Amino acid sequence: MPRIAYVNGRYVAHRDASVHIEDRGYQFADGVYEVCEVARGFIVDMPRHLDRLERSLKELSMAWPVSRRVLMLIMREVVRRNRVSTGLVYLQVTRGVASRDFVFPQGVHPSLVVTARKVDPGFQARRAETGIKVVTVPETRWDRVDIKTVGLLPNVLAKQKAKEAGCQEAWFVDIEGKVKEGGSSNAWIVTRDGLLVTRPADRGILRGITRTTLFDVAGKLGLKVEERYFSVEEAKAAREAFISSATTIAMPVVEIDGTTVANGQPGSITLSLREAFFDVAEKSPA
Ligand code: PLP
Repeated sequence: MPRIAYVNGRYVAHRDASVHIEDRGYQFADGVYEVCEVARGFIVDMPRHLDRLERSLKELSMAWPVSRRVLMLIMREVVRRNRVSTGLVYLQVTRGVASRDFVFPQGVHPSLVVTARKVDPGFQARRAETGIKVVTVPETRWDRVDIKTVGLLPNVLAKQKAKEAGCQEAWFVDIEGKVKEGGSSNAWIVTRDGLLVTRPADRGILRGITRTTLFDVAGKLGLKVEERYFSVEEAKAAREAFISSATTIAMPVVEIDGTTVANGQPGSITLSLREAFFDVAEKSPA
């Protein structure tokens, strides 16, 4: 079955889907995006993702390409047309197509692309059974990583470095040696007393939707979350470490820069968060 993409008002064959060469996303990374998990036929935490999209657009003085309600319909339609019941739906909004000039173009409509794809339902589950390895890299990104922009080159380089080191994620570390977040995930540890620790999300990291929902999951499981800085050394010595994102949920980290975390096995608290996640997350029918 051919994949279908939504591009600026039309549903088109994925292989032919394209935007103009002067789209500002292409030329300036002048755009924002969201990725939602699709699980068991539901779009997970859709309202929270759209709230964050609204914030990203506002921070960049960009208009909605279509109304929020219409965007929800398009996302559902793309998921339906691609028959995705386990996978993800991706949306990208850019400032639109205009003759190349740094300042905002006038009277230009934002571009909207929505795609969806199937993911092997067992892939993340198998990964969670062994856990993942992480390398640390110095923070090289701009100051506004709280906005989910498509300007992801430092993330690309960091994740490539992780891959070359035989790892699955890279953690950005600030100048004080404190962990910020992953190339495409938030970073967490569990202390010896069973406290969940993750970096505050006011600025300097992306406020992950999965991170937010995991606060709710933790509450349901009677676990406490502390938002504070933690160092690479503290993470290596932690009882557990894990990452969170829409595609990975809570994913155990068993090695950091070649140092084994605890006994090198996925932590039980991480796995219990993972297990309870879907019951707590908001599920919008796709
Ligand atoms: N941090 C970064 C840099 C990301 O790119 C992502 C997701 O892509 C996250 C955190 C996790 O966010 P979410 O849980 O909304 O997927």
